[in-house]
Amino acid sequence: MMNLMMNDVKELFNLINNSQNICIAGHKAPDGDCIGSVMALYEFLKLQNKKLTVCIDGKIPFNYKKLVDEEVILKEYNNQKFDLLFILDCSDAERLGKFKDVFANATKTVCIDHHKTNQSFADINIIIPSMSSTGELLYDILKTSGQRLTKEAATYIYIAIVTDTGKFSYSNTTSDTHRKTAELIDLGVDVADIDNTVYNSKPSNVVKAFIDCISSIELHYDNKFGIASITKNILENNEVDMGDIDGVVEFIREIKEVEVSCVLKEYEEKNTKVSLRSKNNIDVSNISVRFGGGGHAKAAGFEIHDTVENTKKVLIEIFKEYLGE
Ligand code: 5GP
Ligand code: MN
Repeated sequence: MMNLMMNDVKELFNLINNSQNICIAGHKAPDGDCIGSVMALYEFLKLQNKKLTVCIDGKIPFNYKKLVDEEVILKEYNNQKFDLLFILDCSDAERLGKFKDVFANATKTVCIDHHKTNQSFADINIIIPSMSSTGELLYDILKTSGQRLTKEAATYIYIAIVTDTGKFSYSNTTSDTHRKTAELIDLGVDVADIDNTVYNSKPSNVVKAFIDCISSIELHYDNKFGIASITKNILENNEVDMGDIDGVVEFIREIKEVEVSCVLKEYEEKNTKVSLRSKNNIDVSNISVRFGGGGHAKAAGFEIHDTVENTKKVLIEIFKEYLGE
């Protein structure tokens, strides 16, 4: 387990002390780790009377809406300059989406992340791939301040951890993850309430859209490769947003023989987002990096400027190399 580099952490707190106008940014199409980490840092810095701006490109999924005051998120970027920019859970500046120029315009930049594909692109980079989530890493960093986290901040960190570990079930879950989670519960996190908010709250049209996606599963190479699509058609028929459908790629992985699962998300006719999950030894982050994306060995992704159908053919061909006989 890699430890925090205390020099970097000290420098980070110096930068906070010397900055007034601070921006906190996460990756586009935000997930629980992104939203949880960004909001936890927001709660922490709020107590220090800083001027804060939050940049997250993409809709907040329905299940996080109750947890995020969308008023705090910047609508459009108009070249505002910040003394200090935090980039969380984001392995390259491109992943900031419509806010990517905020990076070039900030006086100082700090990146906190757990993706092994992160290129350490900021002024200060605290990147620890052995951490389950950016939230877990951020918790370690905030703890060094000696300041007790509020229940709200602890809850956001908990959400980051619980979502990125698949409720403490993925191989990124460590005994340290559990010890830190115990501390968060001691700070007041209501575990069952968060479970109901994040997981047990799907509107019926989201479930119907999920079923449509599941119906599109194709299995290849003796069921070792499973692939499904979330098309614009499915979204429109069920009146849901792309970010509202979660868990399809994890569902495919539940099939016994599946080694790699894949979901294709049709954002535009020629803009397809690929999500990959690996059950055992195949490193899907290496494959994603080849296409300009990134992630972790067992969960990674990339974007392709092509149709869903063509992208599917490309992926089936790629995994022939790994899973074909
Ligand atoms: P998901 O499939 O849930 O979108 O992403 C799985 C993991 O891969 C996440 O850790 C996510 O940050 C990373 N990832 C997904 N898409 C991209 C991408 O286009 N670029 C990079 N660098 N990482 C990605
Ligand atoms: Mn993450």
